[in-house]
Formats: sequence, structure tokens, C-alpha cells
Amino acid sequence: MTPLADPVPGGRPGDVERATALAGELAGRGVHGVVLAYVDTAGIGRVKTVPVAKLPAAAAWGVGMSPVFDTFLADDSIVTTDVLGSPDGDLRLYPDLGRLAVLSGQPGWAWAPVDRITQEGERHPGCGRTFLRRIVADAEQHHGLTFKAAVEIEWAVGRASAPEGEFEPAVSGPAYGATRQVELSDFTADLLAACAAQGLDVDQLHPEYAAGQFEISVGALDPVAAADRSLLVRQTVRAVAGRHGLRVSFAPAVLAEGVGNGGHVHLSAWREGTNLHTGGEGRYGMTAEAESFTAGLLARLPALTAVTAPSPASYLRLRPSQWAGVFTAWGRETRETALRVVTGTLGLRDRAANLEVKPVDLAANPYLALGCLIAAGLDGIASSAPLPEETTGDPARLDEAEASARGVRRLPTSLAEAVTAFRGDELLRAALGPVLADAVIAVREGEIAAVAGLDDEQVAAAYRWRY
Ligand code: GLU
Ligand code: MG
Repeated sequence: MTPLADPVPGGRPGDVERATALAGELAGRGVHGVVLAYVDTAGIGRVKTVPVAKLPAAAAWGVGMSPVFDTFLADDSIVTTDVLGSPDGDLRLYPDLGRLAVLSGQPGWAWAPVDRITQEGERHPGCGRTFLRRIVADAEQHHGLTFKAAVEIEWAVGRASAPEGEFEPAVSGPAYGATRQVELSDFTADLLAACAAQGLDVDQLHPEYAAGQFEISVGALDPVAAADRSLLVRQTVRAVAGRHGLRVSFAPAVLAEGVGNGGHVHLSAWREGTNLHTGGEGRYGMTAEAESFTAGLLARLPALTAVTAPSPASYLRLRPSQWAGVFTAWGRETRETALRVVTGTLGLRDRAANLEVKPVDLAANPYLALGCLIAAGLDGIASSAPLPEETTGDPARLDEAEASARGVRRLPTSLAEAVTAFRGDELLRAALGPVLADAVIAVREGEIAAVAGLDDEQVAAAYRWRY
């Protein structure tokens, strides 16, 4: 699918007419307002809203919003770069009408993701969605490659009645347990109904491992749509939960100890409609290009974590033997390597084969994360990067000599280490462009400073209800 064109002052061709028709239709369905959604560099979803009657104006001229949000931290304080973080200037937010959804969990509201341009009609270099659209368009134009992606969503369900700031799991049953499914039967049934009504193609919904934890997985789409969908799923989970007296957290580590919330990314590269991760001569049916794509990602994982695991709390989750994939290794269906080669079941492989990237959480801006993952994989293809040997079992059990012989390294153990790796990765910084790359560094350094002196419990608490 060709990514949507950039917004232009006056509206993308046909958008004003479409918005006018939509506004009438939405009003007829009892919708009063449209949420215009984007994600900042710290991975916090931020919004503006317009009354339904103003949707055509938003499609024509966008909605104003300061660029200062690009350097907001998760606690709403502000850092600066050479370009961003000043109180000056204004951007225009343009809804993608093709992704507009009527929110079942929030009666009276519709939702749409936005792209941001300047008042002069130029791309805003800090816009993550525009960045991902450009990466995807360039890959198609220059390499003949398209991608499919899906973001898994894990979250913890707590009681809204818990004391301020605290997390009280809303279920007491065992991990993956039938008990948990029964305990939250009404919430989860309403959630599935809301997802279906919104056209969200849910594959599975299940109780997960950690206290109060659940997960939704959804079908793969082009990367921009997959990122949009990950936002909409979270908006829906939160809203439906609220109607059941529940409070949800997508934070990487709701508690300092134990398994965290992942946002594993499933990614596959395609050429002329054919999935490159199956039917090839390489390992497990990978084509040579899929092997190199995997190798490209593997090589850059330490730097990528600054984008895919962007919070100090991310490093409470990124610990060995907790299924978060903290070693630079790959394996077929291996849950402890950072990259899991998913072949799919016989009969489904042409559709299902993909690469799962585990060291990703839901504090990540999904547009930045997907764009950087694709840029790393593309570099692997362009350089015909060789894929090292497979690792099976838990890499944490490898002794030092064996790990080093295999090139298996521990991913950064702190956000500071990740930022150092990111600073040293010219390819990723160039892919993002200087404005976004500097924003990533400034925001991460701001987060590091914000938690200086806090212990693990305090770090978990600081981010628990921000995501
Ligand atoms: N919760 C784990 C994580 O933080 C993932 C569990 C799973 O494999 O689904 O990544
Ligand atoms: Mg899971």
C-alpha cells in the first residue's frame, strides 16, 4: 500500500470533501468530537480534539499545536535542542481520514492519527509519523521493498480504587490462567466487542505472566497502519477498562521486580508481494535478503534500544530470563534472544513468516521504533550482511567464551548505555534526520536526569501511570 501523501495547506486532494461527508455521517452516529492523536519523542500519546463540525476545517488547514511537545519528557517537563523545545512557533496537525475510527469505548468520540506540517506547508522534521511514512516510501521506491508489521500490546490491569499512584492487580489468578479470564470476563468481552466495532483485527487476547497482565495481538499491516493501530488499541483498552472501574498501565515495568510489559514488534520484508522470510534457500526458509535484514537489525540492536526501549523504566524490564530478549542473538521460536525467527505453521508460512523484535516496549514511539528498525534492516540488505549462527535456549546460560565466540552481547543495561550506542550510530541518526535524532538524545538525557538518585521502586512508580 502506498503511504499517504504529505498534508498540504488547503488539504490533501479530496480530503475536504471526504471530511465534510464524514462529519455528517459521524454526527448522525452520535459522535461529537474527534481526537487527533500523535506520540511525542518520550512515547507519550498526546492529543488535541475538535468538534465534529470542525473536521472539514481540520482536513483543510490542520489544527494548531506547538512543536514544544517534541521535547516533552514523560513527566511533562521540557528539554531543548538547537531546534526544538522553544515556546515559539506553531505546527498544523492533519488527521489521516483513512484511519478515522469511531471509538466504541468512548461514546461520542472518534479518533484519527495525525501528520504534522509547518505553517509554511513543509514537513515537520520532528514528526515521527512523517518519518516512518518517508522510510516506507523510500524503501519501496529505491529498493522495491514493502513491509508488514504488528505491535503486540501487553498491559497490567489494576483497580481504579487503589490508593493514589499504587498498583493493585485486578486479578489474582495464575499466569495465563483460566481464573484470570473469568475474573475479567466482562471487561475483556467488552474490549473484544469494541475492537471489532472499530475494525481492529484482533488475533488473540490472553492473560499474561505478570501480576494483572494481559495481552492483545493484532494482525499485520503496513508499518504506518501498524503504528496507528497500536495507538488505537491502547486508547481502546484504556477506555473500556475505565468503564469497568479498572486502570491500565502499558509502562515497561509496572513494578520494579518481575516480568514487564513488552511491545514486541513483528516485522517482515516483502518484494513484489512475496514474503522474503519464507521459501528461500537460507536458514528456516529465509531468503538471502531476509537473513541480511535480520543481520542488519542484530548489528544495531544496542543503538536501537535508545528508540525501542526509551524510558529509564525500560531497563527494569530488559533483564535476562524474563522473555524480553536482552541478548544480541537470534533463534527460531526462541523467546530469550532479541530476535525470534517466526516461521509460522506449515500451510501458513507465505503469510505468517516474520521476525519478532523483543527488546521493544510501549514507551517507544511506534513510528520512530518501526522506522529505525526498518532502516537497520535495510542497511543489512544493502550491505548483504551475513547472519551469524543461531542461538537456542537462554543466552544467559552461555559462558563468557562461548557468548563472545558467537558475538552474543548483553543489550544496554541502562538508558545511558543505550544513548551512548545511539550517539555512535550514524546510520540511525541519519535515517531520523538531525532534528529527530537530537530530540531522541535530549529527551533520553532528560529522562536520565529526571530519575537521578531514584531507586528501582521509585523509577517504576515514576512511569507507572504515564504510559
Ligand atoms: N512480558 C514479556 C516482555 O516483557 C513478554 C512475554 C511474552 O513472550 O509474550 O517482553
Ligand atoms: Mg506476551
